Amino acid sequence: MILIYIFIFIFGLCIGSFINALVYRLYEEMPIAKARSICPKCKHQLRWQDNIPLISFIFLRGQCHFCREKISWQYPLIELATGALFVLASYFVFLSSSSSYYFIILLLYYFITLSFLITIFLFDLKHSLIPDKISLPAIVVVLIFQIFFWLGGEMPMGLGLKNLSFVAISAIIGGSWFALQYFLSKGKWVGGGDIRLGILMGIVLPWPHILTALFLSYIVGALVALPLLIFKKKTMKSEIPFGVFLVPTTLIVMFWGEKIVNWYLNIF
Ligand SMILES: [Zn+2]
Repeated sequence: MILIYIFIFIFGLCIGSFINALVYRLYEEMPIAKARSICPKCKHQLRWQDNIPLISFIFLRGQCHFCREKISWQYPLIELATGALFVLASYFVFLSSSSSYYFIILLLYYFITLSFLITIFLFDLKHSLIPDKISLPAIVVVLIFQIFFWLGGEMPMGLGLKNLSFVAISAIIGGSWFALQYFLSKGKWVGGGDIRLGILMGIVLPWPHILTALFLSYIVGALVALPLLIFKKKTMKSEIPFGVFLVPTTLIVMFWGEKIVNWYLNIF
């Protein structure tokens, strides 16, 4: 069993490495399928041994082999986070799943959804933008999975989805919540990409879990923004991209949504 988890972790590291390259290439408008990566500073083509997730960063001591330019901590951190999230998702899947064909689909669902969300998170963090090239395919793919789960009569665990309409309600709430803010503020509070992310959150988190995620994102946002405001790192005007808060809260509710709702209902 431990071997399976190690394998999944390494697989996650590789996907994380791909996400790093994908975000860089999308932003630079480079072809995604270009064979070799280059150093952003000296444009030198990387050797194969500079391209191994995590290992290369450690052996290169965080520097480019050619120009000694520092490699951003973003690279190993995204790789580690992707590996860890893949392991967490498979842990939940192995706990819950009944039939073997269903668990393969469920694993696939989590790996793909996580990859989309991590890509959105990284792009928004670096460029304060959520590109439609990522959010729109994510909406379509996750929706297809949910329809499949609904037809199969088995739902992703922890979310208690009883009806496909719960997905639709959630998507409408998620999308219109940000659309409303977008129109009220004329695009100053949130961007158009946040509307698409809101719809995606709704499809990932069927009713009532979308509410938990929206609520939680404001708490997390406030917890992060307040110290930054107090220590004058950011002013009220400087924008912290909202997707940076929305993605982690989506992940939390994706894994522990049912527990949070039960806990909440027990208090009142
Ligand atoms: Zn270099």
